[in-house]
Amino acid sequence: MAKTAKTCIVCGQVAGSKEHVFPAALGGRRTNSGIYCTEHDNSYSGLVNEIAGQLDFLNAYLGVRPDHSSRPKIAYAEHMLTGETVSVSADEIRFTKPRIISRNPVGDGEALQMSFPNQHSAKQFIKDMEDKGHTVVLQSKPSTHPYITGSVHHKRAFGGPCGLGAVAYMTQTFFAQEFPEIARSGALSNFIAYTQAIAKIAALSGCEQKTEKLEELIGARSALTAALVPFDGVVPVWWDFGPPADARPNKFEIGHRVTVGVDGSDGQLYGRVELFSALTFSMRLGTATLGAATREVVVDIDPLAEHPPHDIERYQVLAAPSRVHVPQRTTEGLAEALANGTQTRAFEKLLERLTEHQLVKLAHAMSIALAPCSTMSPLEARASIDKVLDGQPQQIWRMVTFVVQGLREAMIKGNLEAIVPVLDGLIAHDAQSAIGLSRQAEATLVLAKAALAAQIEEDCAAGLLTEVRIAELMGRGPGLHIVGQAVLAPVLEGFGVAA
Ligand SMILES: [Zn+2]
Repeated sequence: MAKTAKTCIVCGQVAGSKEHVFPAALGGRRTNSGIYCTEHDNSYSGLVNEIAGQLDFLNAYLGVRPDHSSRPKIAYAEHMLTGETVSVSADEIRFTKPRIISRNPVGDGEALQMSFPNQHSAKQFIKDMEDKGHTVVLQSKPSTHPYITGSVHHKRAFGGPCGLGAVAYMTQTFFAQEFPEIARSGALSNFIAYTQAIAKIAALSGCEQKTEKLEELIGARSALTAALVPFDGVVPVWWDFGPPADARPNKFEIGHRVTVGVDGSDGQLYGRVELFSALTFSMRLGTATLGAATREVVVDIDPLAEHPPHDIERYQVLAAPSRVHVPQRTTEGLAEALANGTQTRAFEKLLERLTEHQLVKLAHAMSIALAPCSTMSPLEARASIDKVLDGQPQQIWRMVTFVVQGLREAMIKGNLEAIVPVLDGLIAHDAQSAIGLSRQAEATLVLAKAALAAQIEEDCAAGLLTEVRIAELMGRGPGLHIVGQAVLAPVLEGFGVAA
């Protein structure tokens, strides 16, 4: 690297802070100590917090462990049936507060059936009641149940001025790493002034507040307006749903990608970001002086890698295939994508990939747990299989609802609506029950589990229970077929339809 690479790209003073090139909160594991001074590294923390907050739900669902943290992410969402807050992590969804399931007057007091997120919460509740002068008598031993959730709703929207600002800052850092001399030539000055201005607003929590009296924030907003003058008043980063057609696929199953480049033909300095290969942005960082060499660097990032070196894949070409086309109005990308469903499809595809990722992970864990089965007596094997399946009610429930809803749609198309209430009954939720399901739905789940257990037992005895087979049984065609037979056949017989 050239000697110039050790000065801060914002102020020109000595650089030395160990900033994450890709935000640690999103799973970035690499640091670089030659891009910002400590003050200017810290100045961007509001933007980093903003993007981390916006993506926390996806990160939590995936089990991304933030760098410098030993625990994967937890996000909070709203449970649709009860409107209560639930915590979401890669392993489970749980309520965060005690819930009353039923209450009945008994003598001078009340009999409560309650559910708690954990033991600590239960003890705390009892203590609080006793502190208030109530006498608490446990009428039965507490038992633990998984809770089967319907949909959860995550309130955060992605993007907005600070989301775009965070994406711009990330790309600027990558650009400075790959093109240290251009980053210090003054060619990025306007872009850096913009990221500094939006970072200041984020640091003052100006992204959430619409109206404010805070003097400092008013100053920060006019500074942003001034910083945007060289860009004709338009933010130089935008949603882009038309990424380069011939781009190679991301190296990682659930990967991020940052592309930075210089096109020497007209000096365009550009960048692109794809988060989870689904949320895509482009930006124009500035114009290089005449004679700059054409080069493009693409970095794929695996947010699930625990540490280097297999957390990133970097490659470069001496061409500018991803150069950007500044749209007439930069909001068009998102507006169009929302209008024609492109963004919805991108999210659906992302969710499909996340589901597949979870299934592969589950199959791996189950294959380890079930490995001893083949050497056990049939009785022991069955007990072990039951235990493993008891730990996966949400996954089995996912299969149950998939087959029942699939049949429901087919029946409506075939003018057999009479069966619809029966099918709905099979999977009816009851938010107030201990496990979240109606009695009938609970029975449906038991049927499905038993059918899967029988098949797993048979495969195990025959020596066929590979990891791939487990994935098939727990979420793909073969498993769905077995679940469908078990839960739908009795219903269809009643209606004189062949299963
Ligand atoms: Zn500085």
